[in-house]
Amino acid sequence: WSSDTIAVVTGANRGIGFEIARQIASHGLTVILTSRETKVGEEAAKVLQEGGLNVMFHQLDVVDSSSIELFADWVKQTFGGIDILVNNAGVNFNADSANSVEFAEKVIDTNYFGTKNMIKALIPLMRPSASGARIVNVSSRLGRLNGRRNRIGNLSLRQQLEDDSSLSEELIDQTVTTFLEQVKDGSWTSGGWPQVFTDYSLSKLAVNSYTRLMSRVLSDRPEGQKVYINCYCPGWVKTAMTGWAGHTSPEEGADTAVWLALLPDQFVDLAILNRIKKTSSIA
Ligand code: NDP
Repeated sequence: WSSDTIAVVTGANRGIGFEIARQIASHGLTVILTSRETKVGEEAAKVLQEGGLNVMFHQLDVVDSSSIELFADWVKQTFGGIDILVNNAGVNFNADSANSVEFAEKVIDTNYFGTKNMIKALIPLMRPSASGARIVNVSSRLGRLNGRRNRIGNLSLRQQLEDDSSLSEELIDQTVTTFLEQVKDGSWTSGGWPQVFTDYSLSKLAVNSYTRLMSRVLSDRPEGQKVYINCYCPGWVKTAMTGWAGHTSPEEGADTAVWLALLPDQFVDLAILNRIKKTSSIA
């Protein structure tokens, strides 16, 4: 790796994203550390720069389409393109109340649509290379299609999402849209949605499904223009999101993302995976 390799990390001002940025930059790459708040993002980048790492800051709010557009334009003008995109930015408001959906729209917009819109905006900027460009989505095991306690109750919908022949962007969008409509009219409690961390789990289920879909779409690209996409669960990590509860440090929570971002030429296709050490599927 060299400083000519450009990696973008979203929501990198703190938590797991900050660690992903630090660890990728420690391998000698140039990291664009992004944050929706300019001041905190600049401060986070400064910490890494003072540690001798090649890190630049740029503002990026993944729910703001003009912010994404400005960012993509800047990337194009400054570097011509990128090699790695890590979609880490995420929100969760369920920590104290498992089934609260008060902020459902914000959760789905940030975690699912934010991730999807970043992928759509940056794929055209991913540079051709022999080993392929990389996209890593930070997801969660709470988004498993067949999790025991928090899967979608509607068996037919679950099967459609699971089956590659019926999985589509429209199906994923329709699933989250139906949920949000039911949140608005109050009928979501009987809609068979995940019982634990309902809106968050559904947002990550959508991320996992979209990752699977895109891994298929991107596999059609010719050699030299490949883009490999994966998602993973960092475990239960001590960050602001969990109120610093959990049994994994941000350093450990970041390591799988870094591994996936820097996979060697001999690519191992692990479309959806848990933390490496566990290697069980979260699809
Ligand atoms: P933090 O709350 O510490 O970090 C979340 C980051 O996302 C912050 O930098 C936050 O910015 C940023 N963010 C939120 N909304 C936006 C937005 N609209 N645009 C850009 N950035 C945004 O949580 P974690 O580090 O724990 O979470 C990182 C990822 O890991 C998330 O995707 C989360 O769902 C996932 N994850 C975490 C787990 C855990 O146990 N901690 C478990 C499983 C998955 P700001 O500082 O401005 O709020």
